[in-house]
Amino acid sequence: MKKTSILLLSAIFIASLISWSPTQKSGPIEKTEIRNIVFMIGDGMGLGAVSSAITVSHHPLNIERCNIIGLQKTFSSDHYVTDSGAAGTALATGNKTNNGAIGVDSEGKSVKSILEIAKENGLATGLVTTSAITDATPASFIAHESSRNSYEDIAKDFLKTDVDVFIGGGYDHFAYRSDKLYLIDSLKARGYKVETTMSAVLKSTSLKLAGLIAPVNSPSHLNGRGDMLPASSRKAIEILNKNPKGFFLMIEGSEIDLAAHAKDETSLMEETLDFDDAVGEVLDFAQKDGHTLVVITADHETGGIAIVGGSIKAHKVLLDFPTNSHTAVMVPVFAYGPGAEKFSGIYDNTAFFQKFLTSYGFGESK
Ligand code: MG
Ligand code: ZN
Repeated sequence: MKKTSILLLSAIFIASLISWSPTQKSGPIEKTEIRNIVFMIGDGMGLGAVSSAITVSHHPLNIERCNIIGLQKTFSSDHYVTDSGAAGTALATGNKTNNGAIGVDSEGKSVKSILEIAKENGLATGLVTTSAITDATPASFIAHESSRNSYEDIAKDFLKTDVDVFIGGGYDHFAYRSDKLYLIDSLKARGYKVETTMSAVLKSTSLKLAGLIAPVNSPSHLNGRGDMLPASSRKAIEILNKNPKGFFLMIEGSEIDLAAHAKDETSLMEETLDFDDAVGEVLDFAQKDGHTLVVITADHETGGIAIVGGSIKAHKVLLDFPTNSHTAVMVPVFAYGPGAEKFSGIYDNTAFFQKFLTSYGFGESK
């Protein structure tokens, strides 16, 4: 009798092991399973911008909720000082490329992005940005062009990969084109709900959403963009999270870079704090969800920002900008959630891609 019941119990145990699968929707979920990745890029957001924002803010920043910190080297294959095209391509595809290139390697060959691989694996995917959706950073995740300035060609590339949700500017690159094609209709034909205002985007329940809410870039946070970035981030997560397999979402605070180019201290702080509000939205979700890895970094530093004075008590900083361009200084990485520890240390900007693949369990690419 005893022997039989042990055998029976063992059989049940083995059967339950065989039927278990980590991708099964109804199956048990392993504690550390990573289902979603949110990759947040503050364009040009170096340590000077982050330190300043921490000082001027009257409350701790959301970014300070991350306890895994790393540093990444941003140089491109042909320049020590990168642009956002080469840096975005390295972050998205794991390949160093020439300045100005988008989603192609230094020989001009198309290279797949983490977003495209996530899509191939059945995950939901999204892009949210305050710039044109066709601008270098978001473009690096979906387009393959030798020049970041080929905005109309980049817009066409959006019709090749069915990214589920994208919210940003760049309407004109789809609607008013030199080839007279009206890509708004092409998006609709592919099942997208196309919305051109923020209020319509926020009301949308469509699983495929193209939010093209500005002709090119959205205005700055101070000049009317308001909470577009945190609100779009929340909306994108709400839609993408309906896919039980998980999602990949890239969120960019694009205009930190523009403020630093302009040496505009006020705007730099506004843009960095607005990006941090978006970080807060994402971390709140990740905290509740438990299966979301959040990685926050910059594509490069802009302005060579030095904090040459200020006061913690008065929440003030005195900044010096030795350049109105990008610099080659390493930029910080902040990570949160399951698998975050992979992002500590010092590494190249090409390392994110493989770390993301491993996190999803996709294994080797190529
Ligand atoms: Mg950018
Ligand atoms: Zn720049």
